[in-house]
Amino acid sequence: MGRKGDGFPAYRGEMEYVCQGCGSRFPAAELHYTCPDCSGVFLLEDRRFAELAETSGETWREIFDARAASKHPALQGIFRFYELVAPILEPEDIVSPGEGQTPVVRANPDLEERVGRPLAFKNEGQNPSASFKDRGMACAFSYLKSLLRHKQWERLLTVCASTGDTSASAAMYAAYVGHPVTSVVLLPQGKVTPQQLAQPLGSGARVLELPGVFDDCMKVVEYLADNYPVALLNSKNSWRILGQETYAFEVAQWADWQTGDKTVFVPVGNAGNISAIMAGFLKLHRLGIIGELPQIFGVQSSHADPVYRYYSAPRGQRRYEPVSVSPSVAQAAMIGNPVSFPRVRALAEQYRSQAGESGFQVVQVSEQEIVEGMLEANRQGHIACTQGGESLAGLLRAVREGAVSREKTAVLNATAHSLKFQSFQQMYFQDSFSPEYDIEPRSELINQPQRIQGGDASPEADREVFVSQAAAEIMDKLGLSGA
Ligand SMILES: *Cc1c(COP(=O)(O)O)cnc(C)c1O
Ligand SMILES: [Zn+2]
Repeated sequence: MGRKGDGFPAYRGEMEYVCQGCGSRFPAAELHYTCPDCSGVFLLEDRRFAELAETSGETWREIFDARAASKHPALQGIFRFYELVAPILEPEDIVSPGEGQTPVVRANPDLEERVGRPLAFKNEGQNPSASFKDRGMACAFSYLKSLLRHKQWERLLTVCASTGDTSASAAMYAAYVGHPVTSVVLLPQGKVTPQQLAQPLGSGARVLELPGVFDDCMKVVEYLADNYPVALLNSKNSWRILGQETYAFEVAQWADWQTGDKTVFVPVGNAGNISAIMAGFLKLHRLGIIGELPQIFGVQSSHADPVYRYYSAPRGQRRYEPVSVSPSVAQAAMIGNPVSFPRVRALAEQYRSQAGESGFQVVQVSEQEIVEGMLEANRQGHIACTQGGESLAGLLRAVREGAVSREKTAVLNATAHSLKFQSFQQMYFQDSFSPEYDIEPRSELINQPQRIQGGDASPEADREVFVSQAAAEIMDKLGLSGA
């Protein structure tokens, strides 16, 4: 591959939107959210992708390995894999405030023994807004920046309806791009936690509260997109899916491109992430960058499991039906009618044609398994959120069902930082889940702060006596005798 002097790739592709509903194609020069013909969702494709296959897989591996040492600011994050992401962008378009290149952390011997095979967490919570959503936003905002340059727009409103990680990420990226972008976040009034409000407010987004529930906000947002010049950043936006493919590229690179002996576990909500991860591995396989596809498991809670239900029916009898959800600790995946389901169906078909039926599977787990997956992971030194716990629960379930071989290393997607979802840990420790969650805390996993009195002395009255009495009390509590 030719290069420009500064190390930025010379290759330019021709991107187009491909509708997963009717198959229509539209050039990427225009901003599309959904298909103008049928309202279907898009995936983005590079018409020149076949030319990339003229470079050998080995050469690509060398290019991406060498690029890991690049100092070019536009190649530090997800655009390390520029040619496979959005090769229509120029370096000045690229918005990359530190997303991607997240660590893959191998589990300690205790956890591996419990699971009975090697496993590692990929810590997506170490992205800048503390979830994997930053990968997709980096791509979406870079594309928007290129549109601003080409079209010389004086103002751009980016809009999303989300109570969680999408709005946090969108607001952060918009703030980083700055003028002329204004980020607008629509939230259902009184239905979000202080933490969910804090990130977009802190990034300076316009946060608008509407009466109603989340779905009402979503309808307003889509009406805005249909009738006004705004850019919608919900996960129907195909530029986000494209950016999220880089998760697969990073897993493959971490594995030194040996993916045939890996299994990848991904929690599924709106199903954008699992679509992107399948699409990413398929790209690497098509270019010969990896020889064998890893096995992929989607994981869903029994409280929100439409994708699991679809794939648990035998081939030929599968019918997609939205489900009504019950409260879930995997709140970011608590979705009964995933917008990316058509993407999953199309990509799973391709994936299974390459990797066999067992190459893509969906497992179902209980709320109890999810929350305890998180707690047990974090007690072994990880930083999993509830959805990361769902990944571990999915692995344990797949092991029990005999669906994964003992030789394969499992890579678990820890999709956000544990701190974002600490309210569920709190509910477990305080045994305060409402009955719909179906969660019975086990005492050995509960951890609560313990009060030390310091005997009869007070720190103000007699500090020395207080210190020695408190120390004695602490050693006594810990079951250790005095020095
Ligand atoms: C968005 C999100 C999910 C669900 O991902 P989908 O792409 O909607 O399937 C899971 N975990 C976290 C932390 C998220 O923010
Ligand atoms: Zn269409």
